Amino acid sequence: MAATLQINVKPLNHQLQLNSKPCSRHCSRWATIRCAAATTPSTRRYTITLLPGDGIGPEVISVAKTALQLAGSLEGIDFGFKEMPMGGAALDLTGVPLPEETLSTAQQSDAVLLGAIGGYKWDNNEKHLKPETGLLQLRKGLKVFANLRPATVLPMLVEASTLKKEVAEGVDVMVVRELTGGIYFGQPRGFSTNDIGEEIGFNTEVYSAPEIDRIARIAFETARKRHGKLCSVDKANVLEASMLWRKRITALASEYPDIELSHMYVDNAAMQLVRNPKQFDTIVTNNIFGDILSDEASMITGSIGMLPSASLGESGPGLFEPIHGSAPDIAGQDKANPLATVLSAAMLLKYGLGEEKAAQRIEDAVLDALNKGFRTGDIHSAGYKLVGCKEMGEEVLKSIEHKIPAAV
Ligand code: NAD
Repeated sequence: MAATLQINVKPLNHQLQLNSKPCSRHCSRWATIRCAAATTPSTRRYTITLLPGDGIGPEVISVAKTALQLAGSLEGIDFGFKEMPMGGAALDLTGVPLPEETLSTAQQSDAVLLGAIGGYKWDNNEKHLKPETGLLQLRKGLKVFANLRPATVLPMLVEASTLKKEVAEGVDVMVVRELTGGIYFGQPRGFSTNDIGEEIGFNTEVYSAPEIDRIARIAFETARKRHGKLCSVDKANVLEASMLWRKRITALASEYPDIELSHMYVDNAAMQLVRNPKQFDTIVTNNIFGDILSDEASMITGSIGMLPSASLGESGPGLFEPIHGSAPDIAGQDKANPLATVLSAAMLLKYGLGEEKAAQRIEDAVLDALNKGFRTGDIHSAGYKLVGCKEMGEEVLKSIEHKIPAAV
């Protein structure tokens, strides 16, 4: 049986869609996807902001851009790309990590594809002049509050997992993490002294009902586009914010009768992810639990160069990026694995634009290149063909051209 990535989805019900034109800047995220999916095969046009960033960023973005162009052209999609400076590259050019023009270009586009930012050169900069600060500003400026991180163990890379083969084989989990609320942002926070004069540090875990509802909707819709199972992870036996979280998610479930909803405490979820990760399809959780669980889940796959991510808001462009950093140790040496960025481009097509067929073309092509034995250094083992970033990109392009996409 042909292997499929996490984007092995149930079809959208196109018959239910009324709009005939893509309307990405003007309607809600999920309406956007539905609208775009309902268009005829005639040419659709999208503007994509490319933010190559630093280190290996430009190398992997260049591969992902050509994959987008080719898959798009085969599906009647015309892309206009705008490349803008970001991170260390922007600091060198303009003195700030996220120039206003970069942000406004990103805000006005249909989707944003980021390579990676950061590097030794800027490590000792003041906080507001660090490349990473630019990334936080970008997420804020795009109002992306939902972070989607798939962890899929590909059959041909199962040996890369640190888990036993029989546990890792077939794992296909999507973690939907709330990104802009909870304890990382809650007030009050700070340092003080307690009643008996001891120094304390404190933070506040707080969620409003609308904040929970909007992430829950994205999670239900994501589960609907996958295998229809959603597990909400909380600590409702201890934390009031989690009690509200569980209450709101349970209430919303009545709007998604086709989704099988379950709840799990976070300590149990952390155990279950390494005990039996195959039990999970889609997980939704708050900011801090999601931070930890998405790292745990992605490490089941064992290969950082393979993992894409998407950050979505209610409307407006989503931000798509590999989870790895700028890898300064291998930058400029044609050693980077471009597949995490290529798969981020597939997420952009699917979750950002609703272009599922083009997304499927890219995902199939990645699997095809791996099935043919091509490996970059990070996923290479004896018996496989070691290639660089460019050659891996060329193999993906060949596969996009030659493979007929599976039906979506
Ligand atoms: P990193 O992910 O850049 O690298 C960790 C290790 O994985 C390195 O050995 C690197 O060579 C390897 N690696 C990463 N991506 C790879 C790929 N695509 N192909 C092959 N090998 C790959 O993490 P780090 O070393 O901790 O951070 C380096 C810089 O990246 C820092 O400045 C950090 O702040 C930044 N960073 C940026 C992001 C982002 O842009 N979203 C995320 C994490 C780290």
